[in-house]
Amino acid sequence: MNNEQIDIASKDLWERAKMIYLSTLQNEEDRSQADSYFAMISSVTEKDNVFTIYANNKFAAEYLNDKYSDKLKSSLDLAGGKKETRLEFKYDPAAKPSLIVPVPASANPTFNNTKYQPYQAKQISSFSSTLPLEENYTFEEFVQGSSNSWAFAAAKGVANNPGQKSSNPLFIHGGTGLGKTHLMQAIGNELKRKNPSLSICYLTAETFLNEYVNALQQKGMESFRDKYRTIDVLLVDDIQFLQKGKQCQEEFFNTFNDLTWKHKQIVMTSDVSPKNLPALEERLISRFIGGMVQEIEAPAYETRLAILKKKAENLTPSIPSSTLEFLADNIKSHVRAMEGALAKVHVTISINPAQELSHEFLSFILKDFIEKEQTLKKLTIREIQECVCKKYGVTIAQILSTDRTASLVTPRQLAMYISRKYTPKSLQEIAAEFDKKHATILHGVKTISKRLDVEDELKTVLTEILAEFGYSISDKLE
Ligand code: ADP
Ligand code: MG
Repeated sequence: MNNEQIDIASKDLWERAKMIYLSTLQNEEDRSQADSYFAMISSVTEKDNVFTIYANNKFAAEYLNDKYSDKLKSSLDLAGGKKETRLEFKYDPAAKPSLIVPVPASANPTFNNTKYQPYQAKQISSFSSTLPLEENYTFEEFVQGSSNSWAFAAAKGVANNPGQKSSNPLFIHGGTGLGKTHLMQAIGNELKRKNPSLSICYLTAETFLNEYVNALQQKGMESFRDKYRTIDVLLVDDIQFLQKGKQCQEEFFNTFNDLTWKHKQIVMTSDVSPKNLPALEERLISRFIGGMVQEIEAPAYETRLAILKKKAENLTPSIPSSTLEFLADNIKSHVRAMEGALAKVHVTISINPAQELSHEFLSFILKDFIEKEQTLKKLTIREIQECVCKKYGVTIAQILSTDRTASLVTPRQLAMYISRKYTPKSLQEIAAEFDKKHATILHGVKTISKRLDVEDELKTVLTEILAEFGYSISDKLE
């Protein structure tokens, strides 16, 4: 098994290769998928130009081999590895999934909350689908700013005192790449650190749904139920996926009730607020908002810069502060994109430390990250409203009014749709500029989304309006 060593140079090479690979991924989903699979790598060894990558489960080893082997090899080459370097992926049975920790007989929980007694977690193997926590997702690594301070405080509160009625469940929502998963895992990491005997389960709602379907097919409902009802902390990421399965919602509802009744902490994240999960059952939504709901918004310049400084802190060669300022200035909507850009800069100067990081050079290498942001800067909600009004021959005052005449509803909703889908503006900002409530904006956006699926004419109008700004339909943000 895995008792060989890896020297510092090879370790460094491996880390750089991973980073190069991740920095090539533009797509949010690809990145988080790669992140999840890389997190299952328990160790890496190197001998005679063969990198052996050990994963903590068999499936992950096979998957890494199928999906990432070629790409990681190219990234190793780019990072300065030798041409003859090979990669092997193996399963290391000694490496346990890091999340569900069995309770040693002598374990003595040190919680000040006496209600919070861990279960004697018995069936470690049945938790194989639980995703590992990312070690770096801690409170210390999370930069606070006005956009996330409430969510941060709530998460800290839960980590200090889990299972309290006032914040159980904790529901964190906000746009993609703004730190929801990070905060949720920070809770898990902190609880695990304080009390290693707690059984903490982190998974995405999609995993829950898939497992539920498997359990149904394989008549394993009972063990599925047992499994989720004998954990101390349930962290469910991206709960919006639960909307896909009606029957599964029922199961989740029961699990949810069972756990909260036993004062077990539940934390959920979602890319929209609980009220905007239309396909979720009403009773689930009312449970979700029965604890504490906190939103994370896009960070302001100072927070963006502080985040970049934090992420760049331990990098060698170090990234000049003028470069960090350039990144904070030009990449605004996603922290994840900021990280991607930072990784790309770092790879570039690792390969060539003499490289001068002029704004021209940075703009060039970060084209994919910045381009959209810069074009988007030009598009204000007012301009969108004006352009849509011109197209439909109505006035701004009319679309800002509450007049529900059909000839006004379409341009009004279309302008809302474009503002929401083609600018990084927050729902609050859009609502303010339309002088409407959040729900009205979301309803408008949803109506247009549905109509676009079936009305070619509307699609043509949208295409024409977008073209006025140099946009195409595919420039949609998410
Ligand atoms: P989400 O789950 O909201 O899509 P993530 O939690 O995956 O976003 O965050 C994306 C990346 O940005 C992660 O690597 C995370 O560490 C980083 N990040 C986001 N917000 C912060 C912050 N305030 N401080 C430090 N890192 C952050
Ligand atoms: Mg996430």
